[in-house]
Amino acid sequence: MTVLPRLDLAAIDPAGTGPFADKEAAAAQLAVDAKAIGALQDRLHAEGTRALLVVLQGIDTSGKDGTVRGVFGEVGPIGVAVTPFGEPTRTELAHDFLWRIHAAVPRRGMIGVFNRSHYEEVLVVKVRNLAPAAAVERAYGQINDFERLLVETGTTVLKFMLHVSKDEQRKRLEERRRDPEKRWKFNPRDLEDRGSWDGFATAYQTMLDRTSTDWAPWTVVPADRKWARNAIVADRVRKTLEAMDPKYPDLDWSGQEFSVP
Ligand code: AMP
Ligand code: MG
Repeated sequence: MTVLPRLDLAAIDPAGTGPFADKEAAAAQLAVDAKAIGALQDRLHAEGTRALLVVLQGIDTSGKDGTVRGVFGEVGPIGVAVTPFGEPTRTELAHDFLWRIHAAVPRRGMIGVFNRSHYEEVLVVKVRNLAPAAAVERAYGQINDFERLLVETGTTVLKFMLHVSKDEQRKRLEERRRDPEKRWKFNPRDLEDRGSWDGFATAYQTMLDRTSTDWAPWTVVPADRKWARNAIVADRVRKTLEAMDPKYPDLDWSGQEFSVP
């Protein structure tokens, strides 16, 4: 396995803007990239042999839903399948942690987006001690093996960690409490997790260290500014699809004698 440069969360500014000078530049590029992603998805669908899985991880208020809206808004509703992963049901808990995940990976021709994912096994499960430490420890390798299986069987895997600051999370949680249109998103559980801020930060760093592989690398996305967040993710998704270079099937009907009645 090639050694990837270490992603050091403490050294990445959540208020960063990536290559974008300002909001206008990012919005303009996002508009172009979102359209390109839509066109590339059409080709992926027509080709029908490969898939793209986009994993979004981040603590509460990091903007996972907003990223889906911003980046995939130009993909036709048939071409993208978004799956949120909340607390496991009893049936899900009766299986291994990858069971519900594998069932939701995109079929060939599709873009699949995970809002939270199998990574909760080494994040919330670890921080809240929901499973034995030895099981969590094994999960890193199991995740890498699982993602290798996906890649080897035709699914490109992209993983984004939305990196929001503690101060920005406070503002967003307060807004959720205040704003009647956002209040439904507020969950007292979020405050509990905020209380474990350092535990989550450590768990996220370990996740990056142990599961950023050359076949399924992580990208840390500064997420304090929504416009930068969306533009950075869209840029990476577009470039990945361009590198996959899906092609319309080369169908030649010219030798056939038929007319459309
Ligand atoms: P939300 O994404 O805000 O709808 O919240 C979903 C909740 O489900 C979060 O608190 C997650 O931490 C939690 N969750 C997701 N996956 C798991 C898991 N495998 N075990 C326990 N909690 C989970
Ligand atoms: Mg929540």
